[in-house]
Amino acid sequence: MSANLSAVAYIGATILFILSLGGLSNPETARRGNLYGIVGMTIAVLATVLGPRVTAAGIPWIVGAMVVGGAIGLFAAKKVQMTQMPELVALMHSLVGLAACLVGFASYIDTSIVFTGAEKAIHEFEIYIGIYIGAITFSGSIIAFGKLSGKIGGKPMLLPARHLLNGIGALVVIYYGYAFLQAPSIETGMTPLIIMTVIGLLFGIHMVMAIGGADMPVVVSMLNSYSGWAAAATGFMLSNDLLIVTGALVGSSGAILSYIMCRAMNRNFISVIAGGFGTGDSAKPSAGGAVPAGEVTAVSAQETAELLKESKNVIIVPGYGMAVAQAQHTVYEITTLLREKGVNVRFGIHPVAGRMPGHMNVLLAEAKVPYDIVLEMDELNDDFPDTDVAIVIGANDIVNPAAEDDPTSPIAGMPVLQVWKAKTSIVMKRSMASGYAGVDNPLFYKDNNRMLFGDAKKMLDEVLAALKG
Ligand code: NDP
Repeated sequence: MSANLSAVAYIGATILFILSLGGLSNPETARRGNLYGIVGMTIAVLATVLGPRVTAAGIPWIVGAMVVGGAIGLFAAKKVQMTQMPELVALMHSLVGLAACLVGFASYIDTSIVFTGAEKAIHEFEIYIGIYIGAITFSGSIIAFGKLSGKIGGKPMLLPARHLLNGIGALVVIYYGYAFLQAPSIETGMTPLIIMTVIGLLFGIHMVMAIGGADMPVVVSMLNSYSGWAAAATGFMLSNDLLIVTGALVGSSGAILSYIMCRAMNRNFISVIAGGFGTGDSAKPSAGGAVPAGEVTAVSAQETAELLKESKNVIIVPGYGMAVAQAQHTVYEITTLLREKGVNVRFGIHPVAGRMPGHMNVLLAEAKVPYDIVLEMDELNDDFPDTDVAIVIGANDIVNPAAEDDPTSPIAGMPVLQVWKAKTSIVMKRSMASGYAGVDNPLFYKDNNRMLFGDAKKMLDEVLAALKG
């Protein structure tokens, strides 16, 4: 393929990626968006492999790597449970970071293209920055994977003088960056490069280890953004325009998502990075705050069905537990039945419900719940006082009134769905266990709250049977 044809293919792929992002911003156009992305990526891969920079001798290597990588990807995607998606995504981000590091080292030791003067300095600067971002993304994403999968505890690890440590690390990276750019040979440049890589790896670990439970959504989207910048840096190192554009698209959309997440959590981006939200200590209810107390009132599936039958307005708040139980299809059946009986059923979606941005929307869309009754938190939070029954399905942190009432709570200030303002709220979960942030929930003890204990799918099946009966 000639250089011109490959450039045209790259422009076509870029347009498709932009259309893809546009499509993904709305559930109704998301499928089309995905399709654009698939077609764009196919064109991009073909144009690169058949492009002017790949020799015939290199093609079997590339095809071999694609077959192995594709097989692993296919296997992972087929095997992964919906609840493990966030972990898989974190793992994928780590691979982008690793790729940036490897490409950086390969570009540095590659002597087939000789750079001189300013070009050499720019190329080496790209390598240094690219490997640094790649190293942070790689180790940070591995820790995020560990935290999301529960292999590493969710509580923040706060080293003494952590800000000082980070500051010293940054200074050392700048110092060795200077040494690297001044290095007269590849051999002498290698030491500063390796030292910087180790600091980048340690910084990634430290940064994500210091993040408390409820701040993880911001970190996940931030690592998504980092992986984009790592890809863009790789594009600079390889002089590949498409990779630069694609990386910048992922990087900037991830940054916007992080900002949206921060706003949803009422958090300042810098303080999230500084870490410490949702610390283990404050998970204990603090003296003087809204200490949860009293008895909880349990209800049966039959009683829940009775309450629903008598309702005019119902709001369903799904959370991570609905994903675990895979209860979305039963939720859809109950919704359809109630709507047929004239009940106004709507869904309230918290921006950080579940374990990844848009988690609940994906599940509800999969179960074919109509989009127009699935509303954002801000769209219906004022409607709870006019709601007869608010059903919380496997959600916990996102409906915790302590976020509003208790300034000492680790999740203080995070906007939540005010289900307790409904005439009756029903929380479906298996036990009194806390949610991801590890905070007790005073909602459970409120007079107008009922607990429907059990696996969400099993209990909803019983509610459905009682509704039909
Ligand atoms: P939570 O983790 O707060 O609560 C989920 C609840 O579901 C648990 O208390 C659990 O209680 C219950 N549950 C688990 N399995 C089942 C089951 N099979 N049947 C019924 N209930 C079940 O989830 P939320 O969605 O309320 O909040 C999300 C939390 O995750 C927030 O803290 C958010 O910051 C964090 N987070 C979000 C990310 C995102 O991008 N959305 C990413 C990373 C973290 P029990 O064990 O008693 O059943």
